[in-house]
Amino acid sequence: MKYLIIATVVGFVLALIYVRVRPYLRLIRKVTESINSATDVSATRSATSSNKLVRCERCETWVPEDRALKLKSGLATFCSPECMEKEPISRGRKIAG
Ligand SMILES: [Zn+2]
Repeated sequence: MKYLIIATVVGFVLALIYVRVRPYLRLIRKVTESINSATDVSATRSATSSNKLVRCERCETWVPEDRALKLKSGLATFCSPECMEKEPISRGRKIAG
């Protein structure tokens, strides 16, 4: 009978401790999750920051490869649709005005 009372008291105390500690456990879990997500973000950032730069055939502006527009042939790269739509640079430039 003595042991049963001790077991009950110990169980009660453990339950009390658990209730007291639970918010901290949650907090710790949240912090670790945020740290994990933060490291994930930095990993993806470093991966995307290794983007190659390509030069626009038209205006010679350097743009990231994922933002550049490419012709189907893949030979020419452009920074914008405007540059892409314009006629290719001719060797003999006409000086207007
Ligand atoms: Zn351009």
